[in-house]
Amino acid sequence: MDVSSLLDGLNDKQREAVGAPQSSMLVLAGAGSGKTRVLTHRIAWLMQVEQQSPYAILAVTFTNKAAKEMRERVEKVAGGNMSRMWIGTFHGLAHRLLRTHYKDANLPESFQILDSDDQLRLIKRILKSLNLDEKQYPPRQAQGYINGKKDLGLRPSHIDAGGFPIEQNLLKIYQIYQDSCDRAGLVDFAEILLRAHELWLNKPHILDHYQDRFKHILVDEFQDTNAIQYAWIRVLAGSTANVMIVGDDDQSIYGWRGAQVENLHKFLADFPAAQTIRLEQNYRSSGNILNASNELIANNPDRMGKKLWTDDKDGEPIGLYCAFNEMDEARFIVGRITDWQDEGGKLEDCAILYRSNAQSRVLEEALLHKGIAYRIYGGLRFFERQEIKDAMGYLRLINNKNDDAAFERVVNTPTRGIGDRTLEIIRTTARQQEMTLWEASIRLLEEKVLAGRAANAVRGFMDLIIAMRMDTDEQSLHRMTDHVIQTSGLKAMYEAEKSEKARARVENLEELVTAARSFVMPEDLEDMGELNAFLSHAALEAGEGQADEFTDAVQLMTLHSAKGLEFPMVFMAGVEEGLFPSQMAIDEGDRLDEERRLCYVGMTRAMQKLYITYAESRRIYGRESFARPSRFVKEIPEQYVQEIRMRTQVSAPAVSTRFGKQDDAFNDSGFKIGQRVMHPKFGEGTVTNYEGSGAQARIQVNFLDVGSKWLVIAYARLETL
Ligand code: ATP
Ligand code: MG
Repeated sequence: MDVSSLLDGLNDKQREAVGAPQSSMLVLAGAGSGKTRVLTHRIAWLMQVEQQSPYAILAVTFTNKAAKEMRERVEKVAGGNMSRMWIGTFHGLAHRLLRTHYKDANLPESFQILDSDDQLRLIKRILKSLNLDEKQYPPRQAQGYINGKKDLGLRPSHIDAGGFPIEQNLLKIYQIYQDSCDRAGLVDFAEILLRAHELWLNKPHILDHYQDRFKHILVDEFQDTNAIQYAWIRVLAGSTANVMIVGDDDQSIYGWRGAQVENLHKFLADFPAAQTIRLEQNYRSSGNILNASNELIANNPDRMGKKLWTDDKDGEPIGLYCAFNEMDEARFIVGRITDWQDEGGKLEDCAILYRSNAQSRVLEEALLHKGIAYRIYGGLRFFERQEIKDAMGYLRLINNKNDDAAFERVVNTPTRGIGDRTLEIIRTTARQQEMTLWEASIRLLEEKVLAGRAANAVRGFMDLIIAMRMDTDEQSLHRMTDHVIQTSGLKAMYEAEKSEKARARVENLEELVTAARSFVMPEDLEDMGELNAFLSHAALEAGEGQADEFTDAVQLMTLHSAKGLEFPMVFMAGVEEGLFPSQMAIDEGDRLDEERRLCYVGMTRAMQKLYITYAESRRIYGRESFARPSRFVKEIPEQYVQEIRMRTQVSAPAVSTRFGKQDDAFNDSGFKIGQRVMHPKFGEGTVTNYEGSGAQARIQVNFLDVGSKWLVIAYARLETL
C-alpha cells in the first residue's frame, strides 16, 4: 500500500498526527473528531513508512471488542498479519505479561484469576476467621478498600492506618487476603495491574527487554486511565519510547472508579517533548447534534478547551419527547424504531442509551412485545441478571417449595451458614431417596442426620420460606415481591456494599417490584395463579437470550458502555433530574460535572438523529416519582431542539402488542395509554390497553393497589389525573 493512501481520508490536522516524526504526542480532541481513526492510521504509518515492526508496537484500547476492531482495521489499512503486535486492554496486556513471566512475578505457572464474586467469598472467610462482624465490616466494603488501594499501587506495607481501629482492621484484612491469594496462586483484577507494574520495578532485566522491544506505545481513551495504569505505561516508556495518547477530557466518565483525568496533565509534564495536536473537525454528527453537545459541555468549568465544528449539514433537530411515564416513553421509542425499520433502516443502527441499568426493563419489555430483536451491549437482559434470578428463586420457592433449581440457587444466598458439605448431604439423600431437596431436608432434620449448626441453618432457611409464603398469601404480586427482596436479605446484602455495581443491583431489585406491579396477566395464562404466571413470564423473557451477533438487533446499553461507539440513530432515555443527573450526583454536588460529561458522551454517539426522552412520572426501583426534565435538557439551546408533542394526539405513538392495538373508538373515550386515572373504588392507576368500541369499549387499567383490571368505559366512572 502506498503512503498517500494511508493519509487518504484524513484532514490536515489528522495527517499531521499520523505522519508526525517519531516522537511522543498528545492528540486532544472532542468526540467524533477521528481520534481512534488517527490512532489506527498511525500504527499503519509506523509500519509502512517508518518501517517499524509490529513487534515494536503496543496499543491499549478500552475494551476487548475495541482491541479486536482496531487490529482488524490496522490489518486492513496496513495489510498483513499483525499477530506480533500487542494490542488489548490494560488488563489483557498485563495478564499476558504475567503469564509469560510468572516466575519473576512470583506466581505459580498455574496461577488463576480470582473474579470479584470469588474475591468476596474469600474476604468473608477472612472476616469470620478474624471474628469481625460483617455488619461493622461489610465484606463488600472491605473488597472496595482492597481494590482501591491496589488501584493506587499500594501494598499493605505502604499503608499507614494511623490510630484508626477500623482502618487498622481493614488493613489487616487486606494483608491476610493477600497472603492467602499468594499461597493459592490467585490474582484479582486490580492485582493483575499492580503486579505487572511491580514486575517493571523489581526485575530490571525484564523491563529492559520490553523497553527495547516497544518503541511505540499508543493509548486510546486516555482520559479514563487510573493511577496504576498510567504508572505502568510511564515506566515502560522510560526515556526512549514514543508514546501517543489520544483522549478528550470532556469524556472522562470513570472518575468514580479511580480514573484520573489529571493524567493528561501528568503526561505533558512527564513527556515535555510531546507535541499536542488538536483535531477540530467532527465527522460523526450532523450540525444540530454537534452544536447542541458543544453548548452543553460548555457549562462545565476547568476544561482543557476545544473547538469542534462540522462540515455536515445541520441535519434534523434533536427530538425531545416528554412522556407521561416510563411506559409511554418506551412506546414512543419503539414506535420510532418501527418507523425507521419501515423506511428500510437497520435495527443495529439504533441505540437506546440509559443512565441506570434498571431502566432497561421497561424498554426490553416494549421491544419484546413488538417482536423487535435487541441486544444488551456489555450486559445481561433484565431477567438474566444475577440479583433478579436470586429474587425470582425465592418467589419460585414460595410458589413451589420442591423447585430444586430455585432451592440450590438461594439456599445460601445471602450466606446463612449452609456449607457445601451440608448441601452435598441433602443432594445425596435426595438422589438416593428420589426426593426433592426440600423433602430431603425435612427428612434429614427429622432423622437428626443434620444436627447442630448445620441443622439450625437449614431449618432457618426453610422457616424463612414458609413464613414468606404465609405472610404474602393474601398480598398482591408487587407487595409479595417487595416482601421477598426485603426479608430474604438480598437487598440488604447489596446495600451493605458501597460500590456502583452493587447499587445497580439494588436498583434492579427495586425495579423488579415495579415489574411485578405492572405485570398484566396474559389472557392465555388466565387460569394460572398470578405468581405462577409472573414466574413463567420472567423465565420466558430470560430464556429468549440475547440476539446473537449475526441478528440485526437494536443495541441497548448504559451511557457508560457507549463510549467510543457511534450509531445513526440514538435515543437517550430517562433524561430527568434524579435519574440523569443521578440523585447521588446531585446530592454530592461535585459529581455533576462528570454526569454532564456522560451526557456529552451520550449525545455525541448520534450521527443523524438524536432523541432525548423524559417522563413526567416514572416508576422505577419500585417507587413512583414525579420528575422534572434534567437540567441538561435545559442547557441545550432551543434552536437545536424540536419538541415532539403527541400527547394530545391519541393515535400515536405506536403501541406494543402488550398495550394493544390502536383503535379509533378509543380516541373518543378521552383516555390515552399511559395516562393516570382515578377510580372511585380501585383508586389510582395507569391506562395500559383498550379494546372494542362504542358501548362495548373496554379499557385496561393497572391500579396501584389492586393490579390490572379491564373496565367498561361507559360504567367505569374514571377520572383523569
Ligand atoms: P470518540 O471521542 O467518540 O471516541 P473519535 O474522536 O475517536 O470519537 P472516531 O471514532 O475515530 O472519532 O471517528 C468518528 C467518525 O468519523 C468515524 O466514523 C470515522 O470513520 C469518521 N472520520 C474520522 N476522520 C474522518 C475523515 N477525515 N474523513 C471522513 N470521516 C472521518
Ligand atoms: Mg474514539
